[in-house]
Amino acid sequence: MGALDLLEYLRATGFALALTTDGGIKVSPASALAEDVRQAIRAHRQSLLALLDAEEEATKGAQSEVQEPDPPGMAARFERLVMFGWDEAQARALAERLNSDASMGDDRVACAADCLHYCPGHCANHRRAGLTDPAVGSDLASLPQRCPGFLAVR
Ligand code: SF4
Repeated sequence: MGALDLLEYLRATGFALALTTDGGIKVSPASALAEDVRQAIRAHRQSLLALLDAEEEATKGAQSEVQEPDPPGMAARFERLVMFGWDEAQARALAERLNSDASMGDDRVACAADCLHYCPGHCANHRRAGLTDPAVGSDLASLPQRCPGFLAVR
């Protein structure tokens, strides 16, 4: 499991990660971490720090201006959608539509295909996104939209 997979896994299983002022990582609730997950966090500490730092920088930028989305290519979108439970036909159709729209200048993105904050069934950045609840159903997760909380996966 790479650092990005680990980050997504932790968020999907209800953990919150944040940078600390002394350059560390705070994982909450720490008491719920299994020993093997603690070891994985230690092993990927530098990469996790870099990912969290990149997220923080992107979020700061989004506060003053609408972030320019940088959608991934169709293959990457397709792989993510399949990973998150879309069947291959649905994933291919959605990835093709998103890329076709993007090629015509449409800068909208879809949570499941494009955003680092998407975890199966919920958004890990829902407050910034303007959602009152972290739950994100499959309809919303596949809906092209512009979102102030968006962070491109690539
Ligand atoms: S931050 Fe916005 S685009 Fe990203 S998963 Fe949440 S709702 Fe979707």
